[in-house]
Amino acid sequence: MRRLLVLVLVLLLFAVLPGCPSFGLPPEMPSDFLVGMRSKEAKDPPVDFLIKVERSGRATWQTTVRAPERKVYSGELELTESQLVALYQATLDADYDSLSDEYAAEPGDSDRAENGNRVFWVEAAQGERRINVDYVNLPAIQVLHDALKSLIPEYALTGRGGPAEAFDATDRFVADRTTKRFHHPNCEHVSEIKADNRETFKDWADALNFRFDPCPVCKPMEVN
Ligand SMILES: [Zn+2]
Repeated sequence: MRRLLVLVLVLLLFAVLPGCPSFGLPPEMPSDFLVGMRSKEAKDPPVDFLIKVERSGRATWQTTVRAPERKVYSGELELTESQLVALYQATLDADYDSLSDEYAAEPGDSDRAENGNRVFWVEAAQGERRINVDYVNLPAIQVLHDALKSLIPEYALTGRGGPAEAFDATDRFVADRTTKRFHHPNCEHVSEIKADNRETFKDWADALNFRFDPCPVCKPMEVN
């Protein structure tokens, strides 16, 4: 009788478990989101991160190590649920308000950033898919920075070793000074840009740094 009771309890447990709500993923997490960041640390070269994360846990990342020579790396990841939640939570927890009030400055102030722990440009769109942060060793977004770094192989952060992709020196993004947007070279809007208003960038971080926004049609920052 007792054995039967245990068996019934075990069967009940298995019947209920698959229907249990998942602990981890917050319902408001979008189906995918991008985190872009330019960072510089004392011991490492300056690095641009871009990671695109899907709710399923699939992630594609790209880094550009900017010095002493420019190297581009990319890869794919499967995030565990706890990694996914940690990264998403870090994007929400970063103290963007204190950054914009206290640290945001004009792009021309980049010298200051090179010389001290100051942000020289911050843009954050909480609740949207894109978060771009430019910073140098800044506590307010350190958790986000650490969450990103923990996912990406060391060679892609330091530029030492690993399978770097040949960097294509041709300009990969075309910007329009009048609309303040930048595009993939093959976007339909590129032909509308007058020669005088045209500007080109080698990577998305440079375009963002000069306060151009990615075109919503060609989505030039998407990692593919
Ligand atoms: Zn475009």
